[in-house]
Amino acid sequence: MTLTPRDTPGGNPSPLTRCLDARDVAALVRAIGVRQSLVQLADHLREDFLRWSAFDKSARAASHSDVGVIELMPVSDGVLHAFKYVNGHPRNARYALPTVMAYGALADVRTGHPLLLADLTLATALRTAATSALAAKAMARRDAKSMALIGNGAQAEFQALAFHALLGIREIRAFDIDRRATDRLARNLAHVPDLRIVAAASIADAVAGADIVSTVTADKTRATILAPEMIAPGMHLNAVGGDCPGKTELHADILRNARIVVEYAPQTRIEGEIQQLPPDAPVTELWEVLAGTSPGRETREEVTIFDSVGFALEDFSALRWLHNVALSNDAGEFFALVATPRDPRDLYGWMMREDASAAKTEGGGVKVALT
Ligand code: NAD
Repeated sequence: MTLTPRDTPGGNPSPLTRCLDARDVAALVRAIGVRQSLVQLADHLREDFLRWSAFDKSARAASHSDVGVIELMPVSDGVLHAFKYVNGHPRNARYALPTVMAYGALADVRTGHPLLLADLTLATALRTAATSALAAKAMARRDAKSMALIGNGAQAEFQALAFHALLGIREIRAFDIDRRATDRLARNLAHVPDLRIVAAASIADAVAGADIVSTVTADKTRATILAPEMIAPGMHLNAVGGDCPGKTELHADILRNARIVVEYAPQTRIEGEIQQLPPDAPVTELWEVLAGTSPGRETREEVTIFDSVGFALEDFSALRWLHNVALSNDAGEFFALVATPRDPRDLYGWMMREDASAAKTEGGGVKVALT
């Protein structure tokens, strides 16, 4: 069964939940191919953004601390419900942990039963990059061939590959304050045909002459990764790293002189680059640009900005894509994630009888190999 946006996912054959751990997701992406995964995911994202009014949307709930943030991101189209748990801890490298880690679930709205529980760390990198590329396709100059990539951490390869696959970007001008990050990026992508990774000496050096500039740095501060004097007419800026109150990458004057597209305005006004602008500053939402009701760019000279913070709809698309590819590849394991007694009202009796442990051995722990 393949889940299309309009499918009713009912008929779940068992009370079990499919689980994809991080290694399952990695194996799926390797089996499909990173490029193909990005293309498929971009299709799912486009389908869902074009159904914008079907979704019950809200800004994510964020729990801030001095060192980072933990966020919950729910969304539903009335058929499927999705949520993601995601953190952002820029100094996590000191604990040998990623800055961003995520997991999430997809549930059947008719019953509330969880269909899928999955690692979303990898899917977040894929969906962020695919969304950036979708936006850039509608906003950047059509003849864009080079991209500056500032911040060469965990998201970097995915951003580079999405722009290569979906826009035909041939040259990545990479810069990171940690030269080892840029070297890793160049090493990891050395095999990709028609893609050249050039290590730049500074941000200004990376940006000079680039058609597109992606900022994907992590620092919990009002940073000035891009200053107005670096920006040339006609550039498209893909601002990904500023995604939290007090965490931005662009000088405010750049925003004042550009066309700005956001995912979901109520959330981006709190978390995005535009937190630096008045609360009623004009912005366009990405779905309007994808639907063709608002232009992504009107002249060759204007500067365009995709102020990305990451919206729950993108994780809905990622979970829907993961579920589809898991179904067609028989991937993952099935677990009794939630208690479903045969007599649904006898939860206590179910717990006290053998049924509880039987449920675990009946369905749980059965590893289904990728085909
Ligand atoms: P990461 O920690 O793996 O990488 C961040 C990189 O930025 C590091 O290599 C670091 O050295 C570099 N860096 C920091 N300050 C810099 C500077 N001044 N100049 C150049 N490089 C600098 O983090 P990641 O997982 O790649 O995520 C990067 C950022 O993107 C984070 O802030 C994260 O919150 C954000 N993010 C946004 C979305 C979204 O949907 N918009 C999704 C995922 C991640």
